[in-house]
Amino acid sequence: MKLASALSHLALICSVVGCGHSQDKPKPRKVGDGMAMSSAHSQAEGWEVNDMNRPVPPLVTPGEFSTQAHVGTAPSDAIVLFDGKDLSKWKSDKGAAEWIVHDGIMEIKPHSGSISTKDEFGDCQLHIEWQTPPDVKGEGQLRGNSGVFLQGLYEAQVLDTRTNRTYADGMAGSLYGQYPPIVNAARPAGEWQVYDIVFRPARVDDKGHVTKPARMTVFLNNILVQDDMELIGPSSHHVLVSYPNVMPAKGPITLQDHGDKVFYRNIWLRPIPAEKEKPPVRSNSGK
Ligand code: MG
Repeated sequence: MKLASALSHLALICSVVGCGHSQDKPKPRKVGDGMAMSSAHSQAEGWEVNDMNRPVPPLVTPGEFSTQAHVGTAPSDAIVLFDGKDLSKWKSDKGAAEWIVHDGIMEIKPHSGSISTKDEFGDCQLHIEWQTPPDVKGEGQLRGNSGVFLQGLYEAQVLDTRTNRTYADGMAGSLYGQYPPIVNAARPAGEWQVYDIVFRPARVDDKGHVTKPARMTVFLNNILVQDDMELIGPSSHHVLVSYPNVMPAKGPITLQDHGDKVFYRNIWLRPIPAEKEKPPVRSNSGK
């Protein structure tokens, strides 16, 4: 083999199997498909511990946190679902979303119908802020009731339950009808409250049959209230639910109109990889 041909052949091998070592710059993954690529590579060959060839994650600029007086901002890679200006990302069953937008917030127009995002999502991180009215009215489930539905199916309850007694699996921070929150982390009515949710939809086979239940992790006001909980089916009222025969892989974010006035602000979502990183398979210390 001639020298030029041999070098070309060597370069081709290196581009396929990776001949570089610590002096090589790691290549950042692309958002979305990068995880799948690295997982496939990892599954095929496996990363060393502290492997400089392992792709580094995409760079994301964090947003600002909200305070009671000031609304925060979304991270740089988020899909902003509501920034205080309009309901252009939302619709209702009847057509256009009729909830009221004012002063950087959206307000439920009672009995106008629940609203859903026009787009559908699967695995995701959702940030959403809500407030029940300071002029407290009603008791139990009739005091500032709304809800955040992941995939349009699974409800993280919105309700004024700082001091309002109701059933435990219907409190703020509950996964409605299934799991009470670990603690009651709700703020009083009239204060902004924050949900940060990690959602994993049910896995389905090619016929749409569930092979693995949906899961949710929920922080309420920065406090863990649901720890990677396995959902037994879509949320319902007074019914022991199960999964229907066919389940979609994606769905909208839905905000419930339960007939009460509730406010929302600063809603954003980040799709996250369905497949998680694999652990390294060998040491790089020669042992
Ligand atoms: Mg509700």
